[in-house]
Amino acid sequence: MSGGSSKNGAPKTADVIILGAGVMGASIAFHLARRKAGRVVVLDKDHAGSGSSGRSSAFIRMHYSFPSEVQLALISLKIFQHWRDIVGEGGEFRKTGFVRIVHPGETETLKKNVAMQLSLGAQVELIDRHQLKELEPDWQVDDVELAAYEPDSGYGDGNVVANDFLSRARELGATYLSKTRASDFLVEAGRIKGVQTDQCEIHAPIVIAATGPWTRPLFQHTGYDPPIETEYHQVAILKNAPTMKPAGAACIDSVTATYFRSDGSDKFLVGDFYGKRPVDPDNFPQRASDTELEEIIERAARRVPKLENAEVMRGVTGVYDVTPDSRALLGPVPGVDGLHICAGFSGMGFKISPAIGLVMSELILDGIATTVDLTPFRPTRFAEGKPIKAEFEYKDD
Ligand SMILES: Cc1cc2nc3c(=O)[nH]c(=O)nc-3n(C[C@H](O)[C@H](O)[C@H](O)COP(=O)(O)OP(=O)(O)OC[C@H]3O[C@@H](n4cnc5c(N)ncnc54)[C@H](O)[C@@H]3O)c2cc1C
Repeated sequence: MSGGSSKNGAPKTADVIILGAGVMGASIAFHLARRKAGRVVVLDKDHAGSGSSGRSSAFIRMHYSFPSEVQLALISLKIFQHWRDIVGEGGEFRKTGFVRIVHPGETETLKKNVAMQLSLGAQVELIDRHQLKELEPDWQVDDVELAAYEPDSGYGDGNVVANDFLSRARELGATYLSKTRASDFLVEAGRIKGVQTDQCEIHAPIVIAATGPWTRPLFQHTGYDPPIETEYHQVAILKNAPTMKPAGAACIDSVTATYFRSDGSDKFLVGDFYGKRPVDPDNFPQRASDTELEEIIERAARRVPKLENAEVMRGVTGVYDVTPDSRALLGPVPGVDGLHICAGFSGMGFKISPAIGLVMSELILDGIATTVDLTPFRPTRFAEGKPIKAEFEYKDD
């Protein structure tokens, strides 16, 4: 392949182009660079972590109802735990433990999912209301029959993960172009030839779109329409009330339809299950609504009553990229050889991003992802009428 670069310093050719430097694009770049995949170029229309990744609540947990997702979460946990050794950067992983509370009618489903997670190697146990109260004395747990508890889980930081992966990928030879938007794919006779950016053309035989909520419009000339909807979410950051326990467990609670966790030693984060669709990812409120945050906190306070006296410090707003089965589209795009998609992670991508980079790099370099089978996530599954359905799915999965 011929080399050279455009006037703005962008290379004219590459072996692999990755669109998007969120946790996914950066993770793919890291894993490809680690395997010496040739000239890897990462483009971001803005900067690393500026999309959903930098706004993520960044929960790290193993509790999923679909086994492949548990596998991806487990591989990722190991990478989060050994970040400096593997990635060579500082990282940010806080082990607080994680609790999953389900609707009282779904206790049997919880048991089955925990059994499946244990069989895959997750550290998880079922705890009853008394054990939960002992673990988290501030929580109101009268309605809880059983909960799943993961002592090793916690939370991270989307900005740190995207930037650490990207820094290491660059040290290993990848090229990064910020403020460079891909406006279209270059396709010839059913094969990807590269991308048209707002500054130049870059040619490559492999292109991966890890473009989060911006993905759908990018594909408009390809003949493949990724079924990704955008959904607006709001998150509250509160100052701990004086008597609140610092660094308590993270929790996803179906009863209050909220999720919450500590945020450092003196803050607390509360998020909502529900969001509004559609939303323009380039133009959505940067400031959360005070009334809506109050309503979310009120719900979470049914579980953590001390939140009623906690002061709201700020809100975080962000956009999910949601598919009809809430699972990502991973792999080759039909009709365009060499073009791959890695998007549609809903509110769940952060915790699996280290493993997603690994399996996407296997798919690109070996033709098949071997660490975890990606076939269920194939982009054609909806057209085939085969969305992912876990055996023991929760009503609000
Ligand atoms: C409020 C909120 C809370 C969340 N909480 C959690 C959580 O607790 N746990 C969890 O696991 N997940 C969570 N998520 C989901 C998780 O953050 C996302 O799944 C993950 O960050 C997706 O990463 P990404 O790299 O696919 O997308 P993004 O981070 O959105 O990155 C896409 C990048 O592509 C770039 N881009 C887009 N179009 C172009 C183009 N045409 N050319 C060049 N560049 C382009 C963008 O600038 C952006 O940087 C949350 C998300 C939000 C919004």
